[in-house]
Amino acid sequence: DVTVGVLALQGAFSEHVQLLRAAAESLALKHEPAQQSQTRWSFVEIRTPEELARCDGLIIPGGESTAMSLVAARSGLLEPLRDFVKVLRKPTWGTCAGLILLAEAANRTKKGGQQLIGGLDVRVNRNHFGRQVESFQANLQLSFLGDSPDKSANEPYRCVFIRAPVVEKILPHRDGVQTEEESRDATVVAPSKAPGDQLAEKETTAQVEVMATLPAQTPALHANREHDDAGTEDIIAVRQGNVLGISFHPELTADPRIHVWWLGEVLKAVERRRQFDLVHRSA
Ligand code: GLN
Repeated sequence: DVTVGVLALQGAFSEHVQLLRAAAESLALKHEPAQQSQTRWSFVEIRTPEELARCDGLIIPGGESTAMSLVAARSGLLEPLRDFVKVLRKPTWGTCAGLILLAEAANRTKKGGQQLIGGLDVRVNRNHFGRQVESFQANLQLSFLGDSPDKSANEPYRCVFIRAPVVEKILPHRDGVQTEEESRDATVVAPSKAPGDQLAEKETTAQVEVMATLPAQTPALHANREHDDAGTEDIIAVRQGNVLGISFHPELTADPRIHVWWLGEVLKAVERRRQFDLVHRSA
């Protein structure tokens, strides 16, 4: 049995739960009937540290990162979330506001900063494309979804950007220690956290991988304004070990392909942990 939580403090959490259910169904269809019985998924909304403790993986949805962070602090969830991501190193995926919270550093906006969870050695620029009216959609080929013999699986993904952040800098691994440059820039940074168990130790060296970029002059669909971001290619998806961050909102589409892919990653992590526990206990 595998339990995946969706942080349900604010934002688009129920949309994620729906898409997770669709993804689990399509995963089950892809496997042999004999394997189907092997994974029993539970998808649960997370509001307390006790609920979080039962999860094998976690999604942090899009919404408003300052609000989410404030509610998390009030619910006593900030430290348990940092432990989940950085000490237990369980699979964690943030979309939009979730990406901001999983970054080690973020710029302050006019309304101020927020407490971050961290886990991705990147600095994000919140509201990179501007205000709500500058939200847009773009069809992008997401190569990490892999090549599928099924043609429809290789179709571009409709990416929904709403006051979206981008990764503006990949940081040297420094676990939340604020550099001089960052303090000058009035940046908020996540506090440092040392990994605890041996499995975590092995994974601390994971590098930041760029999973997807938004090429300059990508034509925008259904936008109030043409997206014309001064000829730069923006990083919109990154992964570092157990942590995945995506600028856009897959939960606001009906396309479960990223959720299917990520659930596959969760299964691999659960299996690795099982193996580790086996070796550990028999030793
Ligand atoms: N820009 C928002 C923030 O700072 C995130 C927007 C979103 O999740 N759609 O939290």
